[in-house]
Amino acid sequence: MNKKQKRTIIVLSSVLLFVVCILLLVLSRGSKYVIDFNSKSITRTIEYGDTFLEPNITAVGHRRLFYRKKEKLKVTKEGSVDTGTIGKNKIKYTATYKGVTSSITITVNVTDTTPPEINLVSNPDSFTSPVGEYVEEGYSAFDNHDGDVTANVVRTPGDGIVTYSVEDSFGNKESVVRKIVYKDVVPPTVTLTGDVTVPVEVGTEYNEQGATATDDVDGDITDTVKVDGTYDINTPGVYTLTYTATDKSGNVGSTQRIVLVHKKQVAAVNPGDHVVYLTFDDGPYKYTEQLLDLLDKYNVKVTFFVTNQYPDYQNLIAEEAKRGHTVAIHSYSHNYASIYTSVDAYMADLNQMSDIVVAQTGKRPTIVRFPGGSSNTVSAKYCSGIMTALANTLTANGYYYCDWNVSSGDAGGTIATEQVVANVTSGIAGHDVSIVLQHDIKDFSVNAVEQILQWGLTNGYTFLPMSESTPMEHQHINN
Ligand code: ZN
Repeated sequence: MNKKQKRTIIVLSSVLLFVVCILLLVLSRGSKYVIDFNSKSITRTIEYGDTFLEPNITAVGHRRLFYRKKEKLKVTKEGSVDTGTIGKNKIKYTATYKGVTSSITITVNVTDTTPPEINLVSNPDSFTSPVGEYVEEGYSAFDNHDGDVTANVVRTPGDGIVTYSVEDSFGNKESVVRKIVYKDVVPPTVTLTGDVTVPVEVGTEYNEQGATATDDVDGDITDTVKVDGTYDINTPGVYTLTYTATDKSGNVGSTQRIVLVHKKQVAAVNPGDHVVYLTFDDGPYKYTEQLLDLLDKYNVKVTFFVTNQYPDYQNLIAEEAKRGHTVAIHSYSHNYASIYTSVDAYMADLNQMSDIVVAQTGKRPTIVRFPGGSSNTVSAKYCSGIMTALANTLTANGYYYCDWNVSSGDAGGTIATEQVVANVTSGIAGHDVSIVLQHDIKDFSVNAVEQILQWGLTNGYTFLPMSESTPMEHQHINN
């Protein structure tokens, strides 16, 4: 062998050894087939409650060496992701190719990094007085994981702000600030000096007493009070004056006064005088107190024919007397079927009521009105001639019984305030001395009184409470 031949053998041996080594290497790695996934094993993080989007995992199989034709493989999946639970979820994807099985795993971490949301209730019309304290309008807090966490909100008032803070169970914090809008939207309060209704005799003088005004922010602003409206002291009428005050923020407060220019009021009845005795039967009841307040406003005194039908209001009998009205007897029970059976039965009922009036007022009443009036015929059902006997008995015992000559109609078909006003004013217009029948147990009738007073006072009538010298109205006795 020459040198050249020797070198050829060495080269060929080396190539053969290399090929054998490669073959050994391939065989030592097991299969000659492999599977490739389009993704590596990964770890992902997803927020609690969010929708998990499934990754599109695909796999191909192919020969490890030389002829590498790729074949798409079926991928099976094990495991799922529950985004409704905090923690780790694993999904394993597996593919098989010519006896070779391979898989990858995706780890999905469900976490909560979202802070709660705080919502403030804010009324656009809600302002805080510059001298007032902010009144909480409300708030709520909701967390994606914990749900309603309103109760955990910490509210910290500051200078012109309120801070609301809250933390969820994973330590996610949120805080919002409310800016308080300070603005004076409260009008001043205007208070009349003197009475709301000032009766003034025609041709005399009206003495303006003015009004005071206070504001929640500005304090005493009486100097801003302006009076608007006119009156004619020489012409009877109802005149309204308006008092307004304006605060520094432009809020206007107001109140009104009635100047009631009327003809001269008489103290006693003389022929030709126009006198009205307003009388109210069947109370006291729940409308009596407002009636008393109204009568005070006009400084008018009336007569109450009282009963014990509503004992809860018995103390108003004392109030009626205290405010200068006449308290007279109507009936204790107001039950025709018992009081009109005999003189004794009637007198027993009358005395019971009389005792209550004495207890309330300290005075025994002498003026009486029969339930149904002296002309009633219902009593004949229970006792013939009873009204005649009772009229004689009362007179003989020093009582004065009195009916009416003007009916408001409020015990019958009338149920409207305007109709009561019309019935009473037209009735009054037809008499020099009117004894008006109304019932203070009827709200629509009580509501008519102010208009009746204004009409009467401005048309020259005098309102008086009854006394023993009042000309008693007696209807014709029919039984
Ligand atoms: Zn009655």
